Amino acid sequence: MAITSDWHIHTHCSCDSACMEFEALVKSAKECGITDFGVSDHYHTRLQEQDMATSRKDFEKTLEAHPELKGHFHFGIEATIISEWEIDKILKGDYVGIKEAPTYGVRIGGPKNAPVTLDFDDEFIEKYGIEYVVSGVHWPMYCDTDRDSLLKEYHRQYMYAATHPYTTILAHYMWYDSGLFTNLWEIKDAKNPFVDFSTVPVSMLDELKAALLECNTAFELNLGGIVLTPKLPDSFKDEYLGWVADLQKSGVVLSSGSDSHSAALCADDYEECDKIFKHYGIDSSKFFCL
Ligand SMILES: [Zn+2]
Ligand SMILES: [Zn+2]
Repeated sequence: MAITSDWHIHTHCSCDSACMEFEALVKSAKECGITDFGVSDHYHTRLQEQDMATSRKDFEKTLEAHPELKGHFHFGIEATIISEWEIDKILKGDYVGIKEAPTYGVRIGGPKNAPVTLDFDDEFIEKYGIEYVVSGVHWPMYCDTDRDSLLKEYHRQYMYAATHPYTTILAHYMWYDSGLFTNLWEIKDAKNPFVDFSTVPVSMLDELKAALLECNTAFELNLGGIVLTPKLPDSFKDEYLGWVADLQKSGVVLSSGSDSHSAALCADDYEECDKIFKHYGIDSSKFFCL
């Protein structure tokens, strides 16, 4: 069975380079054979609340224009795990002079391994009709940048995300591009601590698997950021996808997410991933669906 769902899609309402218009999304989903899908624009902190409002408005307009999509097209967010320290600073307006802040939170000056949170509540979920939350770990919290410290810091955040009651789907586990944000954070020597998969402690992998199962959290197969990216070596992908296939066999629900930031969804990407998943024995007919 081909991939027919996508729960990680950015539109022009995301605060980065994403540019898809809702009409283009609906049209390209149809062309790609994606029958069940949702938008998940970036939400780092309350400073992106206006983006959520715009995204929701566009979503409703689109559903009105395409009533056949009711029950198949959904409204979600990609929420970033963020430190309590920076939320506090943002609340106080105490970020003046910080170079790249505050769109991406406050990336410098926080306490080492600061306690983390998601910057929204039940009221927010209800207000914007959020049907599902894709929780993403996007940067380490002011920790040391040797591999061991980064690994522990990311693991801590992945566990937080996987077990948070708001999380429906854990986004891009072992995301490679920490450098994107560590540049903002002015630490240039931080590298992806996960890139050699065989050296990630089995205890971390097992702990995450247990949490996903216990909390009924879906695990995302991130097509653009992990499965198809040329930035990760084939050796990593081979071990990683073998492990993900085992996760599925253990009962963890996998979720398909293109993480598209483009003007439209891309049929070739789904086809390519479909072949890859089949090769590893990953069964796309059992993928997460709302
Ligand atoms: Zn992300
Ligand atoms: Zn994303």
